[in-house]
Amino acid sequence: MDHFLYKNGTLHAEDVPLTDIAAQVGTPFYVYSAATLTRHYHLFTEALSPLPHMVCFAIKSLSNVAVLKLLGDLGAGMDVVSGGEYRRARAAGVPGDRIVFSGVGKTREEMRLALTGGIRQFNVESEPELRALSEVATSLGLTAPITIRVNPDVDAKTHAKIATGKSENKFGIPIARAREVYAEAASLPGIEVIGVDVHIGSQLTDLAPFEAAYLKVADLTRQLRADGHNIRRLDLGGGLGIPYTRSNEAPPLPMDYGALIKRTVGDLGCEIEIEPGRLISGNAGLLVSSVIYVKNGEGRDFLILDAAMNDLVRPSMYDAHHDIVPVIEPAAATEAAVYDVVGPVCETGDTFAKARPVAPMAEGDLVAFRSAGAYGAVMASEYNTRPLVPEVLVKGDHFAVIRQRPSFDEILNRDTIPEWL
Ligand SMILES: *Cc1c(COP(=O)(O)O)cnc(C)c1O
Repeated sequence: MDHFLYKNGTLHAEDVPLTDIAAQVGTPFYVYSAATLTRHYHLFTEALSPLPHMVCFAIKSLSNVAVLKLLGDLGAGMDVVSGGEYRRARAAGVPGDRIVFSGVGKTREEMRLALTGGIRQFNVESEPELRALSEVATSLGLTAPITIRVNPDVDAKTHAKIATGKSENKFGIPIARAREVYAEAASLPGIEVIGVDVHIGSQLTDLAPFEAAYLKVADLTRQLRADGHNIRRLDLGGGLGIPYTRSNEAPPLPMDYGALIKRTVGDLGCEIEIEPGRLISGNAGLLVSSVIYVKNGEGRDFLILDAAMNDLVRPSMYDAHHDIVPVIEPAAATEAAVYDVVGPVCETGDTFAKARPVAPMAEGDLVAFRSAGAYGAVMASEYNTRPLVPEVLVKGDHFAVIRQRPSFDEILNRDTIPEWL
């Protein structure tokens, strides 16, 4: 459930008509609903209760500092994958002991930043990383709490670009070698082994791969304890999928996911951590755009929007589907028109949807892409020198721009011409 509904014939974000935001901010823009973000966060805390747990929001899905502040104030932890994301979490007021650091390529500089700034744990993904972290922590006179990310060799049955738990993927340490690597970790100075980490992929629409992975983690936890490690925290990753269409998809609910966690690892007495991104942010955001032209082509009509692949790359990158709806609700009996929905960027890949039934549209009309909160704004670029798309947060009848659209002067001033040219 989200908070983007038609009221009096106009699509609203909570109590704010999208037409009001468009008039003030201009299009395209992203808009997020505070109530939806809050609700999604609570679905997870409820699903995991009464187990001791922390829900660490995967910042990479939506990293605006205002959104992080909203979730952080609710008690959320944060999962970061770069020094930049670490800085965002801290700028949002999230204390270091609620931040976990994931990712296969943490640099020594990033390790130093997190160790000195405070960190809940590093999820270590390789032996070279483990050794580097030991060196950095020792040189600072500090101890790095760690889990090791294990790769359970489970097929997440999701899009190839976002599956991470198969042995051929770059992520984690093969679970068969985990005991050996834990033994090395325990022997290294500056390292404190506290748990086990796993993350098998994104947009999973079936619980079976989670179950297979978590059962392997439970077995490993027992073995590691028998080997003498004090395993007290399990980080089970993110990846729960969301519905991208209103109609047929029905991905598992957080409550069922929570029950699965309790069934597979609940008896180990560990603190449970999860790292959901998309399920919290995905359906909490829309991308709103206006129609520049309706172009009648041969055998097809094009809806040319002022949003493009640089603003929302998921359709061209992952073949993703986003529902596209008119902001002004069509009259009940209106027959849909069929469009190829495209942006102005000079690439055929700049296509949001082919042969998509939408209400008949005209120049200047507003449309909204649903389910655009996750991996939307964060993946935007200025390709074609299109200003980075702004972001708006709505709460009740309030709205605020939480990231401004840059001016063309700001964009051009970032380039410099060398004096010898
Ligand atoms: C991407 C990622 C997540 C979040 O995945 P979602 O599908 O957005 O829930 C969590 N943990 C790690 C390590 C990730 O790489």
